[in-house]
Amino acid sequence: MRAPRRHRPARATTAPDARPLPRQALSGAPSRPPVILGVVPGSFETEGVVLRSIRYGEADRILHLYTAQRGRVNAIAKGSRRPKSRFGGRLEPFFRLDLMLHEGRSELCTVTGASTVDGYPALRSDGPSLDAAARGCDAMLRLLDSAEPNRPAYNLLCRYLALLDGNAGGERADLGQAGPSRQATALAFRLKLALAAGFSPELASCARCGEREGIAAFSGSAGGVVCHSCEGGGFPLSRDAHGFMVAALGKPIAELPEAPERALRQVERAIGETLAHHAHVHLRPAA
Ligand SMILES: [Zn+2]
Repeated sequence: MRAPRRHRPARATTAPDARPLPRQALSGAPSRPPVILGVVPGSFETEGVVLRSIRYGEADRILHLYTAQRGRVNAIAKGSRRPKSRFGGRLEPFFRLDLMLHEGRSELCTVTGASTVDGYPALRSDGPSLDAAARGCDAMLRLLDSAEPNRPAYNLLCRYLALLDGNAGGERADLGQAGPSRQATALAFRLKLALAAGFSPELASCARCGEREGIAAFSGSAGGVVCHSCEGGGFPLSRDAHGFMVAALGKPIAELPEAPERALRQVERAIGETLAHHAHVHLRPAA
């Protein structure tokens, strides 16, 4: 990606086209990972998705981003709400962007460049898809708050947004036609996100005793399915719900099996209780 030029005539030392600063100019700053060649110290390129975009001051925005290379990043986009902003409309939620960010001493990075990788235009014009995308991004914000990159989680988010974009406007989910419902897709996303974050429930054998037969219930505190002897404290889990979770973790998000609504409610409860107990995270309802 080519570094964008600043509009201000006075050249700031942090501008992407400035010469590299002498090393001592950065003394006091904590050590950073090596920057990409040709990029000013403190600046880095990464792909990222806008999870949340908050109006700030007269003309700025604060972005909560999930990035491929740096995990969760908060950044300010100065002047981005001015009508002639070089960022255009692409700093809205759910945009997938190639970003140039500058990391100074503030906790917020500064957005110095942004180009669109995918804007998911169909998703944007469909209410239910927008709602699903917002819930998905909210789950990312709650569950993946670290600056450690998590590439599987990032790739999953991009695939989910692309799927919502591809299905936007379709009524098949609500008419019970071929393909999983929005709720099923949202729950599969959640389950895969839990896996990417390291909180996947145990589904193969009893999470308390290891017994593989007689799985009857799910226990959030045990972190998975439990057998007849260990089901105290759990809630009954149907075969459909168990099967759905196994399939959702084992298959691409676009290839989900059908599951009755009652089973999906159990799945949502299973994921919610696992994350509440083990990640101390409470998610909004999936749909
Ligand atoms: Zn057991």
